[in-house]
Amino acid sequence: MVTGLRIVVAADVGATKTRVALFNSADVGLVGKAVFSTPQEGGEDAVANAIIKAFRSLVEGLPEHEVVAVGVGTIGPLDIREGRVVNSPNIKLGSFDLRKPLQEYFRAPTYVVNDCVAAVYAEYLSGAGLGKKNVVYLTLSSGIGAGVIVDGHLLLGKDGNAHEVGHIVVSYDSDIRCGCGGLGHWEGMASGNNLWKLIEKLRVRWGGTSELYEISAEGPVPAAKLFEYWKRGDEFASYVIKELARINAAGVASVINVYDPEVISFGGSIILNNPEFLKVIQEFVKDYVINRVPEFTITRFGDDVVVYGAAFIALKPPQELVEIQGRLR
Ligand SMILES: [Zn+2]
Repeated sequence: MVTGLRIVVAADVGATKTRVALFNSADVGLVGKAVFSTPQEGGEDAVANAIIKAFRSLVEGLPEHEVVAVGVGTIGPLDIREGRVVNSPNIKLGSFDLRKPLQEYFRAPTYVVNDCVAAVYAEYLSGAGLGKKNVVYLTLSSGIGAGVIVDGHLLLGKDGNAHEVGHIVVSYDSDIRCGCGGLGHWEGMASGNNLWKLIEKLRVRWGGTSELYEISAEGPVPAAKLFEYWKRGDEFASYVIKELARINAAGVASVINVYDPEVISFGGSIILNNPEFLKVIQEFVKDYVINRVPEFTITRFGDDVVVYGAAFIALKPPQELVEIQGRLR
């Protein structure tokens, strides 16, 4: 009889950072966590090997244990049948394998989903969506993405890339180009990595002067700086924030119009570091929405929402995912 700890291994593979967390399968309690830079080179198995290495150092000193399941939430785009990332524009590696090498190492059921898909599953089973059937998780971070549950079903899509909401067109006549190549995309204009393009555009329109306005003449303004100046009362920062909030409101309203959620749980560094910005977005949503406005909340899992979600995906995989990835091959 195995008397040791039954562990779920969960990972959040981001463009720059990867988190690996171990959970007690009995109560989804956090047992240990490691954060490291996502490998940018090293071939197909580089990321999986880094996850395994982190796991091995986390279990050192743990009592007798057994890995019962593995879950991964990753940046996309995803080939969900293979559980691999293909041609990701945000990571130098481009394409890499996750499910196969992890399953081979752990000899336990292994599931790989988009990071926001994992996150919404955590909200649904244990967060803001508990007891609800229509839930959206929305991240405003270096990128913009969502995970969606409609009528109790976790949406996946044919390749696992459903709800790429970051590429919703929020300005059809904009010449701001998104990382994907499209024009006027929500992520291209408003994500942490791209909002400097909006700032450059707004500089030309704005007639006044301010400290941020001066600084922005010297080169791209990082997102954190914009919010810092906004909180200090900088006039140009306030102007940019209002435009940025409108763009986000158009995107959020489109999500509400399309998925009709009961609650939207927000995460990602922009919102987690600047929760007051959500209130500004919220004020403008009514200008763009047709469906009844849902409850807005900020994820209670903070930076760990994807690893919690990956753990829930591993422990209670939805039927559709089991059919795609469930067999040990
Ligand atoms: Zn795009």
